[in-house]
Amino acid sequence: MPEQNLTAYDSCMSSSFVHSSSSVPATRGVSFEEARHTVERHAAGVCPGDAETVDLLAGLGRVLAEGIVADRDFPPFDRATRDGYAVRAADLAEVPARLEVVGEVKAGGWPEPGVCSVGLGQAVEIMTGAPLPAGADAVVMVEHTSVGQCSHPNVAKDATLGWGTLTGRFVDIQRGVSVGENFVPRGAEARAGHVLQDRGRRLDHAAIAIAAAVGKSRVQVFRKPRVAVLSTGDEVVDVAATPGPAQIRNSNSYSLAAQVQNAGGEPVRLAIAPDEPRRLRSRIEEAWDAEGLACDILLLTGGVSMGKYDLVEQVLGELKAEFHFTRVEIQPGRPTVFGSCSADAPARADGEVAVGARARAPASHRKYFFGLPGNPVSTMVTFELFARPMIEALAGMTPQPLIFLRARLKSEIRTKTGLTRFLPAVLSGEFENAVVELARWHGSGDIAALARANCYVVIPPECDLVGAGEWVPLLVR
Ligand code: AMP
Ligand code: MG
Repeated sequence: MPEQNLTAYDSCMSSSFVHSSSSVPATRGVSFEEARHTVERHAAGVCPGDAETVDLLAGLGRVLAEGIVADRDFPPFDRATRDGYAVRAADLAEVPARLEVVGEVKAGGWPEPGVCSVGLGQAVEIMTGAPLPAGADAVVMVEHTSVGQCSHPNVAKDATLGWGTLTGRFVDIQRGVSVGENFVPRGAEARAGHVLQDRGRRLDHAAIAIAAAVGKSRVQVFRKPRVAVLSTGDEVVDVAATPGPAQIRNSNSYSLAAQVQNAGGEPVRLAIAPDEPRRLRSRIEEAWDAEGLACDILLLTGGVSMGKYDLVEQVLGELKAEFHFTRVEIQPGRPTVFGSCSADAPARADGEVAVGARARAPASHRKYFFGLPGNPVSTMVTFELFARPMIEALAGMTPQPLIFLRARLKSEIRTKTGLTRFLPAVLSGEFENAVVELARWHGSGDIAALARANCYVVIPPECDLVGAGEWVPLLVR
């Protein structure tokens, strides 16, 4: 899709947007890039959990704790890549040429040298996936040939004796070939002992194919990090409950659990914490207690804005948290909090240190947490931007870079400046017709609009107008 190049974020941002000298808010947080780099720096210092061995298909989505090594050369023999005739290229210096057909080798068959090999003026019929016979140095595609039978009286008798004798069969070849054409030489893809997949690679269908190809029916993967998901808010009720007139169901807990699974973690959904400091604190302790849930990282939602009952920062502060950032200049998701506590902390409400906080945790000395804004769209966006790389690192993989595509904007966007915006949008059309249009939405609480969208248009902070037809960076959802 030429219109949707993969691009780095920075080059996306240097397009022909209309820039303005934006009004800078009084209390600024960190920029999107700075927040992302901060997370990446911390992610680089965490260690995954122990390894375990699972059946190959159960490894889908898991992270390899071992390298996958070629058990033999790939391909293990000179492998034909076309149906046709194995030949000596020099015999086809002039075409059309007639060669004697002295044998056949099909996939799974082995052309014994001397019995089924190619001599001067000879060819062996060959099928895709079959080993190249001795003496041949190329394969001519069957499409460029036509076969015939000599009418010499000896021929009928010889034909009954099988290949490798004078069969009387010949092939007329219309096109020449170069040496090496239409077969892959033994070991060209990989030599025996070569690492085909590195430790730390997430097993997708291609990686599973490689493991299967080298004969691994079981693979070693890292234990999934346990990710505590804690929703906060007096108004939030469980999905099974019938909400009161001013209550809403806890959708964040489910969207986050799904995102955690996608990122390679094991979500541990905790009971909703009310906007009350002691109970919020005991939920956090519950998540980190090594004798209890022993989670490796904590995701909170809600309670991180400036409201009177937004208590998450206060409570984490009491637990001696260090805050790496508490606000990011993005929209949605500005009040995002990222921090960590020493693995020996948090101190319990009763003054004890959480028991054996490191016993089952990864070998990092810190317990990380994210306080994500409660608005559902903000929660989902900030998870992808900031929490995902940390979970990927805890799962044993190198955090994946954000991949920005580009498409033409259908209708102009006017936007307030100063924030990097991630606006839910619908990418449609294919190839040169791909266009993107903002989803109609009612702000960060509008889950329905987000569900209709399939990407976010990314608007840099200094831009206040993007015209219809301009190229815009977008992040696929
Ligand atoms: P807060 O970040 O706590 O100020 O919440 C911002 C908005 O998100 C409010 O309208 C909340 O009711 C809503 N909200 C908070 N937590 C959740 C949740 N777990 N599920 C769905 N919506 C939520
Ligand atoms: Mg709240």
